[in-house]
Amino acid sequence: MNVYADNAATTKTSKTAIAAMLPYFDEIYGNPSSLHTAGQRAAEALEKARETIAGILNCTPREITFTSGGSEADNQAIVSAAKIGERKGKKHIISTAFEHHAVLHTLKALQKQGFDIELLPVGDKGFVTAQQVADAITDKTCLVSVMFANNEIGTIQPIAEIGKICREKGVLFHTDAVQAAGHLHIDVQQQNIDMLSLSAHKFHGAKGAGVLYARKGIALTNIIEGGAQERGKRAGTENLPAIVAMAAALKEADDDLTKNSSYVSAMRDRLIEGLEKIPHSILNGTKENRLPGNVSFCFEGIEGESLLLLLDSKGISASSGSACTSGSLDPSHVLLSIGRPHEVAHGSLRLSLSSYNTPEQIEYILEEVPPIVSYLREMSPLWLDKISGKKEFFIK
Ligand SMILES: *Cc1c(COP(=O)(O)O)cnc(C)c1O
Repeated sequence: MNVYADNAATTKTSKTAIAAMLPYFDEIYGNPSSLHTAGQRAAEALEKARETIAGILNCTPREITFTSGGSEADNQAIVSAAKIGERKGKKHIISTAFEHHAVLHTLKALQKQGFDIELLPVGDKGFVTAQQVADAITDKTCLVSVMFANNEIGTIQPIAEIGKICREKGVLFHTDAVQAAGHLHIDVQQQNIDMLSLSAHKFHGAKGAGVLYARKGIALTNIIEGGAQERGKRAGTENLPAIVAMAAALKEADDDLTKNSSYVSAMRDRLIEGLEKIPHSILNGTKENRLPGNVSFCFEGIEGESLLLLLDSKGISASSGSACTSGSLDPSHVLLSIGRPHEVAHGSLRLSLSSYNTPEQIEYILEEVPPIVSYLREMSPLWLDKISGKKEFFIK
């Protein structure tokens, strides 16, 4: 059986999204900046996509900037807020220890330019509180950036409350909503969000398209200089097929949100219930306030990479930590941020589901994972030391 369970890394492009994008390759292929009819037809499609997305996020089309994806949107949001802050002599930025590298590495670059970066701890469950944010804000704070939901452990942050605190204190609030868009309800007004990033390929759109929402009045700084596309804020000919597909995919995801959320979260809960039975295993994050499709575990005494390869040989595509760090020997910064010891963090498994998965596939995963974990443990000298009592277990 083939099971794709790595939807937090990327998703299959939906049939609706593919159908929506196809005409923009060979029929409506004009450049939206061209004045002729072919260009204007493309420009109309671009603006229609913008209106659709703005409607779903509850903002105005002018507040939407198309980007190449989540990473670019995160970079532009943070750099823009930093520039606004710098002009007012405010160089303190608050974020969290378990953000995506698109946020963390941008902050690191700003730190080298003299910004004071404060990463809030996320506790052993993987949450920041609005109170932590309130306590950290000073009169030098120019930005708070907290992800909507974590890509590795699936925890959903109290975004509306954090946004409310930021609004009260007059501090810009950005959220990396890449894992949330299309999966959780987003309303930038209700949730007090000033800036938000999303990426099409995480909700069954195509790769290479994303959105930066920035509330009216927030001056964006260009990351890419050149032509006057996107009101002069993001140069480069628009990726129209992917943008049209993104609008179609977001609309589809939004229409089916309630139905898909209950279907996918039931599979998630069944998977968690089954994997919890493996001795010396621990769920990362909590059962509540969890992304519908996210399952994340640490199994003591094994290497996540070996587990992945053996699962792959059984047709199961999963992930260990974040896709961006696989290939490096460092354990995931997210698992370290919730206090997992290095040794435990190495034995992680993330299964991320979508509405394309089936209950049969979940049963198949549950049949395959436990014997592979046992097999790997039998070969592990570390594990043998633990069961013989020579070394302590971290996970009881
Ligand atoms: C995937 C992801 C990104 C990066 O998005 P791209 O479109 O791949 O650049 C950023 N943040 C989070 C939380 C993600 O999951």
